[in-house]
Amino acid sequence: MHAPKSRNITWSHSAIKRSERAERNGHRSAILWFTGLSGSGKSTLSRHVEKALFERGFHTYILDGDNVRFGLCRDLGFSPESRTENIRRIGEVAKLMLDAGVIVLTAFISPYRTDRDVNRELVEDGDFIEIYTKCALKTCEDRDPKGLYKKARAGEIENFTGISAPYEEPLHPEIVIETDAHDVDRCVERIIAELTRLGIVPA
Ligand code: ADP
Repeated sequence: MHAPKSRNITWSHSAIKRSERAERNGHRSAILWFTGLSGSGKSTLSRHVEKALFERGFHTYILDGDNVRFGLCRDLGFSPESRTENIRRIGEVAKLMLDAGVIVLTAFISPYRTDRDVNRELVEDGDFIEIYTKCALKTCEDRDPKGLYKKARAGEIENFTGISAPYEEPLHPEIVIETDAHDVDRCVERIIAELTRLGIVPA
């Protein structure tokens, strides 16, 4: 981890413990980190999973790929360095939300394994749940929900993951969900079942 630029700073500890927030909320917090190719289903599944959790009374929030690029990360593009910085910022924001007692769902391609691992290391063991939305490139391209593959193939978008930029598959994700093998409802059911098994969601 890089040292901060400022020198005269000290970490201020809250008088409220994370366990106290969890007790009041009736559930623990966690980061559900969705990763996968564009069109693999990160936004769709994170939205459905959030809804299912919210309806059960959990405190939830989604950080979504495009949304942060309108504000928090609006100075960043898609070069390898910008992607790394984008994911670093999201990791820090997710960590704050984790501390605030929220189940935070993130939906970013996050193509580099190291960047995801750096964010995993920011938090305690068991707080970072990597969910790999696994889907063949061909299927993502056929779905092309935002028409981006078409543009990338036409050379109109540079550094496009899967076409002209790499995607590094997770080696040990907590959850792998094959979105080209099951429909949305089944994928959501399976994710919730896995979250229950992992103790994030009470049975
Ligand atoms: P991403 O956020 O990974 O770029 P999106 O969620 O925006 O992907 O798009 C995925 C597209 O694939 C949506 O149009 C969705 O309806 C469709 N789709 C089909 N089957 C599934 C599935 N099992 N899980 C998620 N999305 C699916």
